Amino acid sequence: MIVEIVTTGTELLLGQIVNTNAPYLAQQMNKLGFNVLYQTTVGDNRERMTHVLEHALSRADIVITSGGLGPTQGDITKEVTALILNRSLYLHEPSKNKIKCFFAERHANMSESNLRQAMVPEGSIILSNERGTAPGIILENNNKIIINLPGPPNELSFMFEHSVVPYLNNKYGMQGSIISKVLRTYGIGESALEDKIKDLIINQTNPTIALLARMGEVVIRITAKGKNELEAQKLIDSVLQKIVSRVGEYIFDTDDNSMEVVAGRELIKNNLSLALAESCTGGLITSRLTDVPGSSSYICGSIVCYSNDVKVQELNIPHEVILKYGAVSNETATAMANSIRRKFKTDIGIGVTGIAGPGGGTAQKPVGLVYIAIDGPIGLRCHSYHFIGQRTDIKFRASQAALDILRCYIHDLTS
Ligand code: ATP
Ligand code: MG
Repeated sequence: MIVEIVTTGTELLLGQIVNTNAPYLAQQMNKLGFNVLYQTTVGDNRERMTHVLEHALSRADIVITSGGLGPTQGDITKEVTALILNRSLYLHEPSKNKIKCFFAERHANMSESNLRQAMVPEGSIILSNERGTAPGIILENNNKIIINLPGPPNELSFMFEHSVVPYLNNKYGMQGSIISKVLRTYGIGESALEDKIKDLIINQTNPTIALLARMGEVVIRITAKGKNELEAQKLIDSVLQKIVSRVGEYIFDTDDNSMEVVAGRELIKNNLSLALAESCTGGLITSRLTDVPGSSSYICGSIVCYSNDVKVQELNIPHEVILKYGAVSNETATAMANSIRRKFKTDIGIGVTGIAGPGGGTAQKPVGLVYIAIDGPIGLRCHSYHFIGQRTDIKFRASQAALDILRCYIHDLTS
């Protein structure tokens, strides 16, 4: 069963609202085992919407639209649906009465245009709208189905769950299950990662393997379709093992958890406390770590030591160290990690100093140079990096590296 999702609305094309209906519908349909092969967005324009829906019906078995069921002249989805399937529109009395009641209950005036919402194509299955006024519809035509759902996300999801899912289950039964597993990697680029598992990517059709580069990480997504969830899971497991045996050293999580969640999990598991001295990251590492619920049990605190004065006064970094080696140096980062650890009496201390740019770089110390030091029960370590990108990219990449260093440090500490 091929599915196409058509989201309608000129404001989507103008970028004025974020299209959340398409991913919602895609996720739900995939969970039910349908293959969503196309997603299209079209404005509230009769001609172009006609073209899009005709095209969608020519290549998909099920077309689901969102938006354009309301009372205004721009709301034309049901009209266009009726037109392309050669149906006339009629006033659906129960929907009309419901709309009248809706307004009466709120002591609001109902304009005649509100009744447009109760106009539906002949032969439709009517989906009542429990969260709003415009009913949705399902129209079956020559083994193809078109489903019109409202645009507001809360109306759409309610109608999908309560009306569309029972309809699809009743009509098609179980379609099987499509599930995905997301492996997150750090420390290897997209093409280098692809080279290591290229043969698996090319030869696999079920599961499929895809690589997605994100800021500071590359994600491997394995997607399998099975008769049921268990079968899909087994298919994923067989490929997962092969991938882990090739590139396991780069994988920091196999359940789509972020680096801050993984690092936090390691701290809590090993009963370790942490303090940070952040210069160029401006508190970003601490912020990311404290995004995780429960982080108060392992994060003691941090100091954003942006200026040299704060580094000297609050962290007791010797003035001479900064003068001799510079604020952005192995020596300063190391002193920061060691000092914050002692000051806050934690198991582990992290110090980060670097040049986020765009100014401040020199030939010896270019923009993007970052030193990250960690101090703890197995000693001091310091790593230097040369990150590329805008200021905020460099800050994020530095935070990602620091969290990975922490994760690896705990691994070495406990193994
Ligand atoms: P209404 O009866 O409220 O007019 P409608 O079914 O006619 O609903 P639209 O007019 O297309 O739907 O959209 C109404 C509102 O729903 C939009 O202003 C927007 O806030 C939200 N909406 C529509 N489409 C989407 C979408 N694809 N993703 C997220 N929100 C959407
Ligand atoms: Mg509308």
